[in-house]
Amino acid sequence: MKIYNKISDIRSELKTLKLNGKSIAFVPTMGFLHSGHLSLVKEAKRLCDIVVVSIFVNQKQFNNEDDFANYPKNLDADIAKLKAQNVDMLFCPNAQEIYPNSNLINFEIDKLASNLCGAYRKGHFQGVALIVSKLFNIINPNIAIFGEKDFQQLQIIRRLVLDLNFDIEILGFPTLREESGLALSSRNARLQGDEILKSANIFYIMNLMKDEILQQKNGDFLDKIIEKYRGELLKFFDKIDYLEICDEENLSIIKQFDANIKARIFVAVYVGKVRLIDNLKIC
Ligand code: AMP
Repeated sequence: MKIYNKISDIRSELKTLKLNGKSIAFVPTMGFLHSGHLSLVKEAKRLCDIVVVSIFVNQKQFNNEDDFANYPKNLDADIAKLKAQNVDMLFCPNAQEIYPNSNLINFEIDKLASNLCGAYRKGHFQGVALIVSKLFNIINPNIAIFGEKDFQQLQIIRRLVLDLNFDIEILGFPTLREESGLALSSRNARLQGDEILKSANIFYIMNLMKDEILQQKNGDFLDKIIEKYRGELLKFFDKIDYLEICDEENLSIIKQFDANIKARIFVAVYVGKVRLIDNLKIC
């Protein structure tokens, strides 16, 4: 695996590979890699000749200094995991390389970023759109792979690619979980003691909610279900940012259940200082 810190170096290597007709798959990450990240890398290996992974903890998408300062890091372990997956290229630039100047251009994202994490993490998706656009312009892959774990991010990136005419296919893959149901996340490393066990209730409660929704006939009962399961979540978690049922396509909140609408449960809760998100497809 070749490791690059400089934009110019990885660009010139990729130029040669593309001239030789190689297809490129790209998996952007913030590092502290787990099996969820590696499941995306495996898909990338299956789909293209060359796999590029990036590791960059993008300060511009953090709305909370404490979260950024405490974001877990272990580059040596990440390199070993990526080598074991036969990843071809790792791009791990520093902040100066990515943001040499204070940037003048910022994104404004309409409806897709107005609720869920967009409402609770001001500027988060603007920061995501900026770094993803920069990385797409640097790597210029044929496909880029993201996890459904960050479902709102995935939908915003799909729209970014459409609106800005990036010639890149965006693929999303399901969330990998612990046996307990807890979604794998780099932030899980910050959970202590019984917090790990407690956090499995996010998935458990989403499943109870899904079963209850599917047992009802079409209609106007979602508010009551949300209220009931907010109560269940509060038995385990210090704070809920949101528990919502949204249309998968446009992420608008669904008030009236209709089995013909692709619906998903979205949740964000705090376990101590650690914020965890998850989602589950209903139908
Ligand atoms: P991050 O390092 O958290 O920015 O995540 C990098 C990529 O991995 C994103 O596309 C995430 O959605 C994806 N990802 C994170 N956790 C999981 C998981 N448990 N299963 C599958 N993909 C994941």
